[in-house]
Amino acid sequence: MMTNSIFLFIGNHLTLDFINTKMVDLNGDLELLPDFDHLLNWFVKGNVLNIKEARIIYKRWHNKPEAKDAIQLALEFRNILFHLVKRITDKNNIQTTAIKEINRVLLQENEYSYLNYTQNKFCLITKLKIVKPVHLLVPLAQQAADLLCNIRFSQIKKCENPKCVLYFYDNSKNGKRRWCRMDSCGNRQKASNYYKKHISKS
Ligand SMILES: [Zn+2]
Repeated sequence: MMTNSIFLFIGNHLTLDFINTKMVDLNGDLELLPDFDHLLNWFVKGNVLNIKEARIIYKRWHNKPEAKDAIQLALEFRNILFHLVKRITDKNNIQTTAIKEINRVLLQENEYSYLNYTQNKFCLITKLKIVKPVHLLVPLAQQAADLLCNIRFSQIKKCENPKCVLYFYDNSKNGKRRWCRMDSCGNRQKASNYYKKHISKS
């Protein structure tokens, strides 16, 4: 399993981080999830699976049809989520087909629980049972449900840098976050605004 993939987790919500794995910009597409290995790595980096769970799935499905199915299903689902989020930021109505797709995945929920004893107390831990590829979509569907149920749509934003395509959840106190990252898009935009202001004055 690869461990050196580079992912961005700037979305402040897993659904947005997931759609940000396809970075379509003016220079073309950049696919951060080209294969099953990258997908599993992304799940680990996003704290959906721990490394042990990911390795078990990798060993079981690597070089098997399941690996192909898993990445294909994940990319199709990402496309659905991307259009859903885009409709939210474009202030369009949400399509019922997207909701149906999320519900279809939620139907596949396959969880198990176990008691864990640490620090002198018991707690019940619930885990996803990943038996077939579609089960990998379940945490993504759960997160999409969280986005729709618990977050105000006005807080879901696309980076204001016109050359940037990243989405994020703005939970800042004043709700004025405008850029995916201050150090890249924010600064560039600030610099360009400053420049424009001063050029127009002179
Ligand atoms: Zn940006």
